Amino acid sequence: MKTLTEKHKNFLNDLVAVCKKHNLSLSHEDNQGAFLIDEYKQGNIDWLMAAMVALTKEEELEEFISILPKPITCSCGNPGKVREDGCWFRVYCDDCWENE
Ligand SMILES: [Zn+2]
Repeated sequence: MKTLTEKHKNFLNDLVAVCKKHNLSLSHEDNQGAFLIDEYKQGNIDWLMAAMVALTKEEELEEFISILPKPITCSCGNPGKVREDGCWFRVYCDDCWENE
């Protein structure tokens, strides 16, 4: 996890000021959903302030590879390669990738 810089902290503090100005706050439906606009709630502000800094694509790839069992294997059993599939990384061999 990356730590928040002053720039990130200033951004969050400005967001909290906007929340207070409008008496609204941001919340979340679940991990898949978009954020929700909710009435002002301290719990939502606490959630907002617990924000984490997103990894770069390269950092995401490095993290994905670090948790893969080695050797990297396709679900069919052949040696696999890490492929970018939309916004996810997945492991496929050349044959399965072509047939995907
Ligand atoms: Zn395969």
